[in-house]
Amino acid sequence: MPKPAPPLDLLLLPSWLVPVEPAGVVLKGHGIGIRDGLIAFIGPREDALRLQATEVRELPGCLLAPGLINTHGHAAMTLFRGLADDLPLMTWLQEHIWPAEARWVDEAFVRDGTNLAIAEQLKGGITCFSDMYFFPKIASECVHDSGMRAQIAVPLLDFPIPGARTFDEGLHLGVELFGDLRHHPRITVALGPHAPYTVSDANLEKVRVIAEELDAPVHMHLHETAFEVQQSIDQCGERPLARLARIGLLGPRLQAVHMTQVSDDDLALLVESNTSVVHCPESNLKLASGFCPVERLWQAGVNVAIGTDGAASNNDLDLLGETRTAALLAKAVSGSASALDAHRALRMATLNGARTLGLEAVTGSLELGKAADLVAFDLSGLAQQPIYDPVSQLVYASGRDCARHVWVAGRQLLDERRLTRLDEQALHASACDWGQRIGGQHE
Ligand SMILES: [Zn+2]
Repeated sequence: MPKPAPPLDLLLLPSWLVPVEPAGVVLKGHGIGIRDGLIAFIGPREDALRLQATEVRELPGCLLAPGLINTHGHAAMTLFRGLADDLPLMTWLQEHIWPAEARWVDEAFVRDGTNLAIAEQLKGGITCFSDMYFFPKIASECVHDSGMRAQIAVPLLDFPIPGARTFDEGLHLGVELFGDLRHHPRITVALGPHAPYTVSDANLEKVRVIAEELDAPVHMHLHETAFEVQQSIDQCGERPLARLARIGLLGPRLQAVHMTQVSDDDLALLVESNTSVVHCPESNLKLASGFCPVERLWQAGVNVAIGTDGAASNNDLDLLGETRTAALLAKAVSGSASALDAHRALRMATLNGARTLGLEAVTGSLELGKAADLVAFDLSGLAQQPIYDPVSQLVYASGRDCARHVWVAGRQLLDERRLTRLDEQALHASACDWGQRIGGQHE
């Protein structure tokens, strides 16, 4: 007789299960079983109830989905939230953000700011995020301790930054961190050349060589504004994307963040090279950077994910809200109301993010053998009734506060809206303390 399967650690019984893969499916009356941090069972409720499980949890009124993936951000910048608003990108960066970073950013800032970002994201149903900020080793320690999943992109710029005096020093530290975390179950390390206008050809060439050698992802701001593209044409006679293609950086390893400017040649390069694009609609709106043509990219076969960008330019890390903005904006930009429907928008915020980060086999959808990175959204509120399509209700009629439970790799990090591993009061106090110090100096 075959040996009976060991008991599940946890069996969840939500009203709706949205696996994201296969696309567009909503399962009613189904359960999902978790064993050793992985999804071990998906099936009808009657079958689920016949299984042995250490814990069984009914989730009436809840939609269970893969955890959201915030594919671009600068976590510790939560501490600069609201410091300099309503300014164009270059003025904002050069006159406000870079001076504030030079004055304030140290290891303690990154630790406190990253923990704040982790807490905010978990409370909004996010289970995985990509981070690109100074002192990446500190950020990786925060991620490790929190139980969350993340890609840590090591920032690389031609000029001195907090934590690295030169480009080469930053690259060296990045290679070291990559090696240290190579086998970490929840953290990947990427190279993060900041943008085409802050990294020279020679240094981009170094990034290409190292990324190929390590098989490391490359995360980069690209075509954020029309100004950036024009400046590149004026200075070196080519568009930034064409420049990266010449250097050999395009490919599935590259995560091209923003892409508000996409010519026909750019589109062809993205498609041919299988480069992923990360759409940050609210940051683009707030800095008046332009509009990423998401529907056009999607229809051409480009993998498009979504990110909040840093809290200094958004100003929240609300990926569910970002997803709604993306769905609405895609219709306005393409002139078609059928662009980026609710189900595709949710896919962009989950599986497309996982694919962008090279984590498609691990997370991003509810499939057997994948990590149990899950969020239970409570759709029982008055404002969500009646429910014809729960995914439409989630994307178009729900706020992030409806994220009620969150699990990462099977471990519950948010339980009835309470963080299980982070001290919310302490985070609140530390953020206020930083705010007083930074605000006092800034006036
Ligand atoms: Zn950014």
